[in-house]
Order: sequence, then structure tokens, then C-alpha cells
Amino acid sequence: MIDLRSDTVTRPSNEMWDVMRSAPLGDDVLGDDPSVRDLEEFAAELLGYEAAVFASSGTQTNLLALMSHCDRADEYIVGQHAHTYRWEGGGAAVFGSIQPQPLVNNPDGTIDLDLIEAAVKPNDPHYAVTRLLALENTWNGHVLPLSYQAEARALVDRHGLSMHLDGARMFNAVAALGGQPTDITAPYDSVSVCLSKGLGAPVGSILAGSRELIGKARRHRKRLGGGMRQAGMLAAAGRYGLEHNAPHMTIDHDNAARLAQGLAGLESITVDSTETNMVFASVTVGSAADLVGYAEANGVALLGGEAPGFRMVTHLDVNAADVDRVIEVFSQWIPASDRPHSIND
Ligand SMILES: *Cc1c(COP(=O)(O)O)cnc(C)c1O
Repeated sequence: MIDLRSDTVTRPSNEMWDVMRSAPLGDDVLGDDPSVRDLEEFAAELLGYEAAVFASSGTQTNLLALMSHCDRADEYIVGQHAHTYRWEGGGAAVFGSIQPQPLVNNPDGTIDLDLIEAAVKPNDPHYAVTRLLALENTWNGHVLPLSYQAEARALVDRHGLSMHLDGARMFNAVAALGGQPTDITAPYDSVSVCLSKGLGAPVGSILAGSRELIGKARRHRKRLGGGMRQAGMLAAAGRYGLEHNAPHMTIDHDNAARLAQGLAGLESITVDSTETNMVFASVTVGSAADLVGYAEANGVALLGGEAPGFRMVTHLDVNAADVDRVIEVFSQWIPASDRPHSIND
């Protein structure tokens, strides 16, 4: 199966398994797992912060960040189509009593700065206290412009807010821009990074920030049941991914571009332009579910439903030959409405 559903589907490489197998372990809840400490120190330095904490998922590191920045009845400003607002079960509201103030995302993932400015609440007992702006980079595969991030920082500084980055796929942005991780993280007070997506680790995310913020996050992690014991085997995989797989993400981007280009010639499919490792496309007739079923029967896994839109994500376990095979499979697809009716219809 060529699995394009997500970059979360990668299996550890042999080298990663070796590192996991030989990782020195301890009890991280007691604070003495050397491999977890090593990952946290390495990631903090790489991302340009004082401290970092390892957690089970990006949903959890985002939640830890929101709960550490905001108190009960505080508010965070967030994109209407941001992962923290839309795809995390409303955790910030449920567990943190934090009110979201969602605003519309532009097609490139930015939120208009004047909308953000207008959404910051005055100091008046009628309102929740606006505390935080949360941005996402990459957002649906788009890289946020560095100039936009800098302008957003200037805005939050004017209002005394903090700024969090959901950087689940920020290393894709690093690869696309060709700079350092700190080019992207510099304006933010905290960043959450998934180790289990393009970086290829099986499980885990990192939250980085000031020592004080990460201290609060550790308390929330414990409270939420996120303390893990011999987690060093997972942390070691994460460190391996940061060191060895991050530099190769441009290959995933090349494969995504190759896929988009190959599909662009087909009549039955329209493809959006791609900047990183995600390709968004639509079928021109019927629903994506029809194509998804056909693709699965031909060894290609996709995510798509009753709407025409579907997505494909490249990653470490997909190479250029796989991409060519996918293009070949798609080129032979006949949409249901074009198929000749059989005598059983
Ligand atoms: C995947 C993802 C997360 C976190 O997902 P988990 O599955 O909980 O690790 C957060 N934000 C974005 C933008 C993501 O793509």
C-alpha cells in the first residue's frame, strides 16, 4: 500500500529502531530518564528556547501551551481553521476553561492583522481577558511568511499578549524556506512540534518555551495523565528524527511537487499548488469517496469523503517511484458517472 493519508503513518527505519533499542532509560515521572532529558535539552536549544517538555501528542503539547499561557476565563485568538480550535476536541475550553476567539483564515493560513487587532478585548469586566494569539505554520501545507509572523509579534507586543506557534509541521516550513528553525520560532513565546509526522518518529511532540512556562506545562501534563515512565525509547526516536530526518524534508516536498505536476494533466482531477508535503486536490465529478475506494483497490490510500476535495501527504515512506505509480493509478480512474452501466444496474 502506498499510504498518502498523512505523514503520521511512517514506521521507524532500521536506524531509528536501533537508536530506540539502545536508548538509556529511567522513570521520566521521577525525572530521571536520560533519553527524555537529552531530547528536551536538544530540542530547546535547536528551537531557541530555555526549556522544552516531551509529551504524547501534538494535541497535548498545544493544550499544555494554551493552559500554561491562559488562566480560566482568559481568551485566545485563533484561526477558524486552526488545528487547536477545530481538531482538538475543544480541549482548551473543556480542560482549561479558556474561551477561543476564532477568526477567519486566509487561503495562505494568515489571519488579517486588523481582524486580530479588533478582536483584542478592552479592559472591561464584560469581557474575557485576551491573553494569547495562536498561529499555525505550516497551515494546510502553506508556509506563513516570516514578515507576517514579525508583524503579528509587533501587534501582540502592543497589546501585552503572548504568542504561541502550533508548529506541528514547522520543520517543513524550515525546509521550504531553507533557513534555521529559529528563523521561524523567534517571534513566538512557545512552540509545539510533532515528532511523529515528517520527522518520522512513532509517537510524541515537544513544547518549547521559557523555563517558567515549561514548568507550568509539566504540572499540566501530569494533571492530564500525560506523565510517561520509560519514555526514553520514544524520545530517542524523536531526537533521531530531528537530527537525521529534518534535513531530508525537501525530498518529501519534491515528491509532493512531482505528484501535483503529474495529476495536473488529468481531466478528472484539479490540483492546488503545493509548497511543502501536502497536496490538496478535488475530483471534477462526483465525490472523492469514489476515487478513494478505487485507489484503495489499487494499492493507494487517500483521505477523502462525500465532498469533492481530498488530500495527499508525502513522507519518508514514499519515494519518487511510488509517486509515479500513484499518478499512473489516478490516470486510469474512470469516475462512476462515466462508467458504462452494467446489465445489473
Ligand atoms: C497533527 C497536528 C497536531 C497534533 O496532532 P496529534 O495527532 O495530536 O499529534 C496539531 N496541529 C497541527 C497543525 C497538526 O497537523
